[in-house]
Amino acid sequence: MLRIRLHGRGGQGIRTAAQILGSALFAEGFEVQDAPRYGAERRGAPIVAYVRAAHAPIDERGTIANPDLVLVADASLFQVPTAGVLQGIGARVALLIATTEDAAVWRARLALAGPIFSFDPGADPAHAATALVGAAARMLGVIRREILGAALGEELRGLDVHKQRSSLMRALEAYDAFGVHGGAVGEAADASARDYTAPQWIDMFLDPVSIAAPDLHASATSVQVRTGAWRTRRPVIDYAHCHRCSWICSTLCPDSAIAVDADRTPRIDYDHCKGCMVCVTVCPAHAISAAPEPRGESPPAALPGVAA
Ligand code: SF4
Ligand code: SF4
Repeated sequence: MLRIRLHGRGGQGIRTAAQILGSALFAEGFEVQDAPRYGAERRGAPIVAYVRAAHAPIDERGTIANPDLVLVADASLFQVPTAGVLQGIGARVALLIATTEDAAVWRARLALAGPIFSFDPGADPAHAATALVGAAARMLGVIRREILGAALGEELRGLDVHKQRSSLMRALEAYDAFGVHGGAVGEAADASARDYTAPQWIDMFLDPVSIAAPDLHASATSVQVRTGAWRTRRPVIDYAHCHRCSWICSTLCPDSAIAVDADRTPRIDYDHCKGCMVCVTVCPAHAISAAPEPRGESPPAALPGVAA
């Protein structure tokens, strides 16, 4: 059985990418399962989707803990432990990352024994998922180019013609570019129940409820959770146009991520701005604009705090 896991962020089309791969594998004669798993349902939240394909009925259910191929549409997800990108990536698992950095950089950074591939997703993160699908289809070695094109057309038929065409173009470009990696993904041997080894269970002591389920008695307890890693776009203040109204953006930011200096200048806390763009909408001077998030190999704190 082929087991493929896709990681991305809400709004990047990860669910659709899984459906395209699933449809293409089905058209090639496989039994197929594809499913997404959502966390918080909003743009930018980590999303994972699964595709299983086999030439026999698929009885396996649930998340894929031991994949053959892992696709990552947003490299900043490696910084988010709960996204689980590295789960089950052993020496035979292929990892394909949409990133501007070379695969060799990621090999050194992640210190994984398995094959790592990368490609530049271009300026529009919305295209990363379709390009991943094209590259993955080629790496699997079992999907023909015309079948990929037909599956893409079928799954994207609700989009306008221009978007369909550009998505198809990106997917087929990636398919062609990954020709040298055709067949790079192999299937793991099916696990037998006879080989099952029980985990090493440990005994947990019962804590008093005051420790096990503590109340929060202080404010700002979540400051350590850097929700800025969720962003796909960042608000940027143009100080030449900001009127220093001093309260609108800072008051209406749902995450209290805009502070105001003594001289009424607003400052965005990029460690905790989640990129909802409420401030862009409400600023009466149109002094805040949305910029693409620098694609994510650096943690948010390393990025500049505000635009000059
Ligand atoms: S709402 Fe706009 S004008 Fe007012 S402080 Fe914020 S950026 Fe400046
Ligand atoms: S985008 Fe603006 S309103 Fe939304 S969290 Fe960031 S600073 Fe706050």
